[in-house]
Amino acid sequence: MAAVEDVIIVGSGPAGYTAALYTARANLSPLVVEGWQWGGLLQQTTEVENFPGFRDGIQGPELMQTMRDQAERFGTRFITDLATKVELADQAGGVHKVWVGDTEHQARTVILAMGAEHKKIGAPGEEELSGRGVSYCATCDAAFFADKETVIVGGGDSAMEEAIFLAKFASKVTIINRRDEFRASKIMLDRARETGNIEWLTPFTVESFEAGENGALETARLLNAQTGEEVVLPTSGAFIAIGHEPQSQLVAGAVELDDEGYVVTEGRSTRTALPGVFAAGDLVDHTYRQAITAAALGCQAALDAEWYLRDTPPLPA
Ligand code: NAP
Repeated sequence: MAAVEDVIIVGSGPAGYTAALYTARANLSPLVVEGWQWGGLLQQTTEVENFPGFRDGIQGPELMQTMRDQAERFGTRFITDLATKVELADQAGGVHKVWVGDTEHQARTVILAMGAEHKKIGAPGEEELSGRGVSYCATCDAAFFADKETVIVGGGDSAMEEAIFLAKFASKVTIINRRDEFRASKIMLDRARETGNIEWLTPFTVESFEAGENGALETARLLNAQTGEEVVLPTSGAFIAIGHEPQSQLVAGAVELDDEGYVVTEGRSTRTALPGVFAAGDLVDHTYRQAITAAALGCQAALDAEWYLRDTPPLPA
């Protein structure tokens, strides 16, 4: 069995890599279990224009590579594989266990930063046309749809925000919501209603996305849940904004999760109820979900872990 680590970080978005940077600079030599597709959701984006410090923007994958390199420079070690199981100690000074396949790793602290995934509708064509018309991020991809007809699926604040942004580029944005009522706040709904090239289709669900001869999205087939009416809507871009799913499956039953599966932390800290277990990034954040806020939470988790290690003697082996 290898030596007990000071810190294991599970996850590799801005939260995980920032936690790695800070704990590495504190000489804690963190071990990051970063997954196969390391870098989190930003790996799937193109231009990132709202991360401070990059006046002309930066590509999402380049930003994540830079964060990873920066953490490595100070002694972070990486396992480019998925954590398959965790066993978290409930006693201060106890040892936490993280498995990668059959290999067990032990640590005095664990920082959970597995992030969130965009929720999928599960409609035929959605996965196949992802990147060829179907997208989960208007903020990232809207510019590709200049003067094109597009749709947004969803009725929450994200859908409104994405629609308003997309409407600056697209000739038309149709918001498709599965109910006549919207979950979005009044202010966001009003803003969308005041936007000239936004139209509305309710209560409709997407039955399928279909490609044209060039292999790119051409139509969305819709169904009115109340009347059974079918609509075939020509569209070049379909943006799915129906919420996010925190990737907390690995720790379900071990740490407290809220109704939506987000890890619960204490007050403004990143502490979970288990001593030495911290959580950061989109795994805990319902609301802001920005690269910069995830990075900030990663920094907080690193400091919380550092202070815990300073103040908590290990249990005798
Ligand atoms: P949300 O509030 O949970 O809304 C999700 C929307 O997607 C709802 O309209 C929901 O319909 C619909 N939906 C869910 N699953 C669906 C499915 N399988 N098929 C079709 N539609 C589906 O999520 P969100 O909009 O991402 O917002 C999350 C949080 O971030 C909220 O607290 C929000 O206020 C906040 N936020 C705020 C801002 C802002 O203020 N600027 C911007 C973005 C997000 P139902 O209503 O029928 O369930």
